[in-house]
Amino acid sequence: MDRGELLYEGKAKQVYRTPDPDRLIQHFKDDATAFNAQKRGTIVSKGIVNNRISEVLFGVLERAGVATHFVERLSERDMLVRACQIVKIEVVVRNVIAGSLATRLGRPEGEALPEPILEHYLKDDALGDPLLNDWHIRFLQLATPDELAAINATALRVNAVLRPYLDARQIVLVDFKLEFGRHHGQLLVADEICPDTCRLWDKTTGHKLDKDRFRRDLGAVEEAYQEAARRICGVAA
Ligand code: 5GP
Repeated sequence: MDRGELLYEGKAKQVYRTPDPDRLIQHFKDDATAFNAQKRGTIVSKGIVNNRISEVLFGVLERAGVATHFVERLSERDMLVRACQIVKIEVVVRNVIAGSLATRLGRPEGEALPEPILEHYLKDDALGDPLLNDWHIRFLQLATPDELAAINATALRVNAVLRPYLDARQIVLVDFKLEFGRHHGQLLVADEICPDTCRLWDKTTGHKLDKDRFRRDLGAVEEAYQEAARRICGVAA
């Protein structure tokens, strides 16, 4: 499938039209940003790793009955996806306290949660992706109440599917961010699921295998992405 017009360029990906109006190509870049693009850099081969890991995890979800936008991986950095209208909500599921939740609640990173915590953020870089509650979502008409219920149920189902899959690969799924798209009346899990969008900790040592290595200048960033790919995909990307 050939790349057509560039429709969108984000921090880590480009999205292209294809000859089929119902299909788009997601192209994964090595560019990395953090803290709302105040920190910028490159993680060598990140695009290749994220494309492969997303392919594997979308496949795991599809086999578990979760509808996603994934169609097929076309090449090292290109993925064919269903063309959907992205819901402007970033959905975060957390199993362990980390990142902004540790800061917001004043609790230590690493504290296990007795049940998953679900959060919604407005997908708006200019505003710094602020936290939303259901009233904000209704006021801004970001999703209907039925859509929001479906989004929440699906996000928790994604967690219930991916957690044991990763646990079997010696990875703790600490937290992750999902995006959803509308496609012919159906909600699909969209975007990507990879070390950019998940916190992945080694089950034994707690060693971070995700983008926090870049965000926090922890070093060995590329090695961590490769190790995540090796464990999740069975081979290095
Ligand atoms: P936190 O709110 O603690 O910063 O992030 C929670 C989880 O969601 C982390 O796994 C983080 O990677 C992911 N996440 C939240 N917002 C974004 C975002 O704008 N971009 C990416 N790549 N991940 C995000």
